[in-house]
Amino acid sequence: MLIDTHTHLDSRKFDGEREEVIERARQAGVSAMMNIGFNRQTIPTTIALAEKYPFIYAAVGWHPTDVEEMRLEEDLAWIERLCAHPKVLAIGEIGLDYHWDSPRDLQHIVFREQIRLARRLKKPIVIHNRDAHADVVRLLREEKAEEVGGIMHCFSGSWETAKMCLDMNFDISFGGPVTFQNARVPKEVLANVPLDRILLETDCPYLAPHPHRGKRNEPAYVSLVAQAAAEIKGITIEEIGKITSDNARARLSIP
Ligand SMILES: [Zn+2]
Repeated sequence: MLIDTHTHLDSRKFDGEREEVIERARQAGVSAMMNIGFNRQTIPTTIALAEKYPFIYAAVGWHPTDVEEMRLEEDLAWIERLCAHPKVLAIGEIGLDYHWDSPRDLQHIVFREQIRLARRLKKPIVIHNRDAHADVVRLLREEKAEEVGGIMHCFSGSWETAKMCLDMNFDISFGGPVTFQNARVPKEVLANVPLDRILLETDCPYLAPHPHRGKRNEPAYVSLVAQAAAEIKGITIEEIGKITSDNARARLSIP
């Protein structure tokens, strides 16, 4: 039993094969998935997937690399309306991305506004953080994100940062990188995070785990992430599957 807490199954990379990919996930023991709608194009396609499959849920939010195309008030109101949808479990992915060239001042505004919205609606948030650890932690703290908490998606920071996030009511979600031979830091962080605060994800079609690294990722491969996590924690894959699924169900209120 496994839950993939972060998928992009609506990605064009799955066109023509989406049904098979979803079926393979079911065969691999994936009992639920949360697909992420993060801009004008992917929010409607995410909702459509969640309406089509009983075991696919949705998160909706505005991604930091797409802030320039956001109509702030209008799109916040859109996200707010969608949060009333029974399959929408969280607001995300939201956060900061300093890797790509997206205006940082605008990223901050959009991030803050969505944390405020999440607090108002009492929804957990899913955090995207790329090369912006200090500012992500600072904004989460300033906006009192602890009140709703959420998920640090595909966490890539240090144990120090992870600790601050845990203290702010965020669970840490691990993906493909923990399976990479040379990924010392994510393995170290995973070893330190308490079992009841760990989630698993693929972030498919991106970040495929070993031995598929560099190829298209899919939710069935969350079992490879689970295998790596089980080894690091010194427990069985069944145990890690059960624990992380319980964690995901509690955090996201999955029925
Ligand atoms: Zn994502």
